[in-house]
Amino acid sequence: MAVLVIEDEPGITDFLRRGLEAAGFTVAIEADGYRGLLAAQRDDIDLVVLDLGLPGLPGEQVLRRLRTTRPALPVIVLTAKDAVSDRVANLEAGADDYVVKPFSFSELLARIRARLRHSDQPSPVILSAGGIELDVRTRRARVEAGRWDCRPASSCCSRSCCAMPDRCCRRSDC
Ligand code: CA
Repeated sequence: MAVLVIEDEPGITDFLRRGLEAAGFTVAIEADGYRGLLAAQRDDIDLVVLDLGLPGLPGEQVLRRLRTTRPALPVIVLTAKDAVSDRVANLEAGADDYVVKPFSFSELLARIRARLRHSDQPSPVILSAGGIELDVRTRRARVEAGRWDCRPASSCCSRSCCAMPDRCCRRSDC
């Protein structure tokens, strides 16, 4: 199982990488909100641990955009914001769980495992943005009356475009 950590504090990412790899997970790290959102579109990502205070795109925006493209992907928010209003706002915005810094790694690990146990439901397969529809299961895209089949990289790019229709994607992002 692969966990994507979107977090900009190197001490925390190093700590999480070591702990999660020791627990048997594949770990990907992104320190920028935009790059984190792009990475989260990959089909091999099973869960996201998301910081809120991020350069590029704030974590709240990453969460909101991620919910339009991968609504079933488990997301655990990891943040220093501990007010009840912050927790409620992020849970209502689509977070599956909320862990406050400083945190216990064993508790975070238990929450990750619990979320993954309950995330076997199928994801929605049709994404749409700007008149384009993408079926992520068959990798078929449709624009008005036209239709074409996407290779895996193209499917990833199309999914990223649906997540961030106002931003250019580089080939290296896919
Ligand atoms: Ca931060």
